[in-house]
Amino acid sequence: MKISVIKNILEANDRIAQENRTIFDEKGLMVINLMSSPGAGKTCLLEKTVDALKDDLRIGVIEGDVQSSQDAERIAKSGIPVVQINTGGACHLDGNMIRDTFQEFNFDALDLLVVENVGNLVCPAEFKVGEDFKAMILSVTEGDDKPAKYPLMFHESKVLLINKIDLLPYVDCSIEKIREEALKINPHMIMFEISCKTGEGLEAWYAWLKQETKSRRSA
Ligand code: MG
Ligand code: ZN
Repeated sequence: MKISVIKNILEANDRIAQENRTIFDEKGLMVINLMSSPGAGKTCLLEKTVDALKDDLRIGVIEGDVQSSQDAERIAKSGIPVVQINTGGACHLDGNMIRDTFQEFNFDALDLLVVENVGNLVCPAEFKVGEDFKAMILSVTEGDDKPAKYPLMFHESKVLLINKIDLLPYVDCSIEKIREEALKINPHMIMFEISCKTGEGLEAWYAWLKQETKSRRSA
């Protein structure tokens, strides 16, 4: 039966993700699984975040894309360790793919590992990779109906970054509606309103992330 096949795949992945998590825990490494639809600004947010925090946190990045290494090349410019995964068609990252990158990193020399997932609002929400938490970006150009249409993403994410707020005058999108609908699905969701282009709102995100990572390491 199809349903039980899918259930088995997810259970097998959960086991591998848990093994990854055990390794991250041993190293005191904070791991974020960053998700969004294509073009919402994951790589741009990472570039800015790495730039702002690289003197305070030792950051590594895993870039997940169906094809190409453009995003990894962008991140590599900042001089931090980055590994590109090409899924060759698969629309999400899973625990195995993340485990395959371990030999490329020295986790003892990192505080924070950010996994940029494949741009997709559907299955990345279902697959754990061993992360501490999932974070998602929603850009205001995508519309305020996304929480209602993709509830699992909002349910599984601890953090929501609402990006491209500089474009609000030009689009029909209500931040209040996004906040309201997201909180209906996930009452504890932590939200930031940001513009990676103008830098608005990013300081609050940096401060929060720095604090979370430091408390993770001392836990
Ligand atoms: Mg990207
Ligand atoms: Zn997928």
